[in-house]
Amino acid sequence: MQAYKLLIEKQRTFVNKGHMRSYAARKVALQQLANTIRNYEQQITTALHADLNKSAFEAYSSEIGIVLSEITFVLKRLATWMKPKKVRTPMTHLGSSSYIQQEPYGVALLISPWNFPFQLALNPLIGAVAAGNSVILKPSELTPHTSKVITAIIQETFAPEHVTVIEGGASTSTALLTERFDYIFYTGGEQVGKIVMEAAAKHLTPVSLELGGKSPCIVHEDANLALAAKRIAWGKFMNAGQACVAPDYIYIHQSVQQAFTEHLIRAIQLLYGEQPLQNENYAHIVSERHFDRLVAMMQEPTIAYGGQYDRTTQAIAPTILTEVSRQQPIMQEEIFGPLLPMLTYDDLHTVITEVRQHEKPLALYVFSESKQVQSCTMNELSFGGGCINDTVYHFTNPYLPFGGVGNSGIGAYHGQHSFQLFSHQKAVLRQTTKFDIPFRYPNLKNGLRLI
Ligand code: NAD
Repeated sequence: MQAYKLLIEKQRTFVNKGHMRSYAARKVALQQLANTIRNYEQQITTALHADLNKSAFEAYSSEIGIVLSEITFVLKRLATWMKPKKVRTPMTHLGSSSYIQQEPYGVALLISPWNFPFQLALNPLIGAVAAGNSVILKPSELTPHTSKVITAIIQETFAPEHVTVIEGGASTSTALLTERFDYIFYTGGEQVGKIVMEAAAKHLTPVSLELGGKSPCIVHEDANLALAAKRIAWGKFMNAGQACVAPDYIYIHQSVQQAFTEHLIRAIQLLYGEQPLQNENYAHIVSERHFDRLVAMMQEPTIAYGGQYDRTTQAIAPTILTEVSRQQPIMQEEIFGPLLPMLTYDDLHTVITEVRQHEKPLALYVFSESKQVQSCTMNELSFGGGCINDTVYHFTNPYLPFGGVGNSGIGAYHGQHSFQLFSHQKAVLRQTTKFDIPFRYPNLKNGLRLI
């Protein structure tokens, strides 16, 4: 579309003129963003409630708070990250020195999803702005209230040639993707990820794909079962299971299945009460289509706990499912909802073999007191990131890169990893003009030469 082309041209000119080249300019931009977010805190909370029935607690702890602390983290370190990094130069290159300069790619396109609609749009934006890029941000159409507030925040903070939000659905993304960007950062499902990568290939644009997958959670026989149950219930049922790093399913050691299930039921009751569908602090499913998909998934396995749902509010209670087989629909695709199937095992090696037979997951969790079990799962299995004796928490450590591997994604961000992701590492060798070594030239063999 002509309007997008013009906007991208304006953004590229803005980058080329060097308006955001200095640390001072980027610092002001990020500080202004933090201030506007603080001013809009109530509107963001209200929008998240309208879109997903998110509680004020979840809105702050998993969306607004994460974004604000990312800005603080970046502001404290950005000046150091931006400095050219000296690297060594071999003796054979006598007279020269070398460094790596961080350079913005130019105009970045960010396409974000609906499940943490504020955080997953703003966190990559922080990295892109910190690295000096201009940005077009396309939030999800499924959470329109949050998208509107994001638009207002961005309009109030940035000039359009620096950052612009374009709202819309798949057709808007499709139109944007025909244009030439300098970087594309996409968060969402695998199928659309492939479309994005194909579109990027036409312009040889580098991409990051933050995708999902079925993230296993292994609970070994020697785990602290009560604590494991509490941490799994928290990671799984936050946002009603609509989280890319939520444990998708559990592998429970057969000898402790019953005891663990009892702990898990207690943990669910502790976090959401005995009537979760009436709980104001429990999130709902984003759309009727997603709700129907989840209800259909519940039909084959045995419901060990929960199973209630309410079509009028699109809420589904935290549900534990047993007698699950790998062939059932619930084990064929990412659940992305509050249904927690449990598979049993006897021998950890069968778990490792089975997990390896499937696509590499975005996250993996293991609960065990044994160092051997911990290191065996960490060494033998490939996954984006994960935790030992916890769930989801790795996502909130800004020192850790966050991203997938294989089908769960390409590229990782958060903290300095975001800055690097959105920066081209320009390699520079500075050569002396005081002398010239002849070895590299044909027919010049008589030692050092003054010029
Ligand atoms: P989605 O792929 O349906 O949509 C994501 C974005 O892509 C939206 O902005 C949407 O408008 C856009 N889009 C939709 N169709 C498109 C098309 N044909 N062409 C171009 N753009 C299009 O994903 P979703 O349902 O919003 O998210 C669910 C998936 O995302 C899950 O698999 C989940 O694990 C994954 N996810 C991953 C992360 C992560 O950080 N790795 C975070 C959240 C969600």
